[in-house]
Amino acid sequence: MSEINEIKIKLEEKLLELTSRAKTIDDDLSEAADDDWSENAVESEGDEVLEKIGNMAVDEIRKIKLALIKIEDGTYGICERCKVRVSVERLEALPYATRCINCS
Ligand SMILES: [Zn+2]
Repeated sequence: MSEINEIKIKLEEKLLELTSRAKTIDDDLSEAADDDWSENAVESEGDEVLEKIGNMAVDEIRKIKLALIKIEDGTYGICERCKVRVSVERLEALPYATRCINCS
């Protein structure tokens, strides 16, 4: 199915982007930890935001990897609850959806 191939390419691109973003955040966080105490107090608020973004990226990376595994083993696009094939439109809008519109 060519649509699945296109989705796979998009997922792989997104995965690369997220991986590099997560790494940047990680570097920022460890840099902040090296600052002296007074600077840390000012920066901690920014760190919380960074950490949130980092957690979101990690979560997305996990979902994308799962979707890629499913593409490989041929179970991609099948609702994990009712086993119905998820529409291509839905997958294109939400590439790592694991459930059909009715089960989500
Ligand atoms: Zn379903």
